Amino acid sequence: MHFITRYSKYQIAYIMNIMTCAEKVILKSCSLKNINYQIDPYIGCSHYCYYCYALQYAKTNWTERIVVHENIIEKLSDELKDLHPQKIYLGHHTDPYQPHEKHLIQTRKVLDLLLEKNFSVSILTKSDLVLRDKYLLKNMDNASVSVSVAFTNNTIRKLFEHNTIDTELRINALAELKEQGIKTNALICPVIPYVTDVIELIRMLESCAGTIWIYRLSILNESDVYWQNIEPVLNKNFPNTKDLIKHAIFNKNHNFWNILRSELELIKKERKLDLRINL
Ligand code: SF4
Repeated sequence: MHFITRYSKYQIAYIMNIMTCAEKVILKSCSLKNINYQIDPYIGCSHYCYYCYALQYAKTNWTERIVVHENIIEKLSDELKDLHPQKIYLGHHTDPYQPHEKHLIQTRKVLDLLLEKNFSVSILTKSDLVLRDKYLLKNMDNASVSVSVAFTNNTIRKLFEHNTIDTELRINALAELKEQGIKTNALICPVIPYVTDVIELIRMLESCAGTIWIYRLSILNESDVYWQNIEPVLNKNFPNTKDLIKHAIFNKNHNFWNILRSELELIKKERKLDLRINL
């Protein structure tokens, strides 16, 4: 491994924390339905979401450094050569459009190669940088893009997702991709009880997302690393409601969830929306 050093002064703060690795396999098997393979162009993610589920899959301390694959295109090209063209997932264990992508263009290189080989992609991101690659996506067979959102208030968003962009910008990007004829979906995730306004997010998303998946913040117990990361945020910023929030997080049958599930079922039926409710 070695540090990358070829960037201008203003990028130094980012670059100091980026390393390369000679990971052997780029194409990994994927556990998602109807998708055989995933590619994570980065290991770690500079969006710094405190609730990040991908933490457990990162092979580095992603809060301190991001790792990029050396020679990703040479390796991937070799791995693809015996496969028939199919849809590959980008965004399962890292965000392919995290801020570093702007200058490292790992995802862009992967998309160029996949298009050249007639593969397609399903992308999940929290960034509007995906718009940069819309013409590549348009030329793929049935490519799809989903954005993930969880906060209507961007001041609160910053508390839980240190380095993401505004929710509205993500949704505007989705609308533009839809206009370009690209299949678009969304995730409302994670639903944090008494913090995430799911109903308002659905209103914001419904005109530009085909399917909307809704997932609650899922934490097993207080020793879980996700809870260790989130609890200080709640203690500091939600001192009066923290106990209420905590009780609902650890109790799937809490009235908060029962009421929300009923409301969502009603919205789904009345507005004929494709909501996939996983609360
Ligand atoms: S964008 Fe996704 S992968 Fe990146 S830190 Fe947030 S939850 Fe983790």
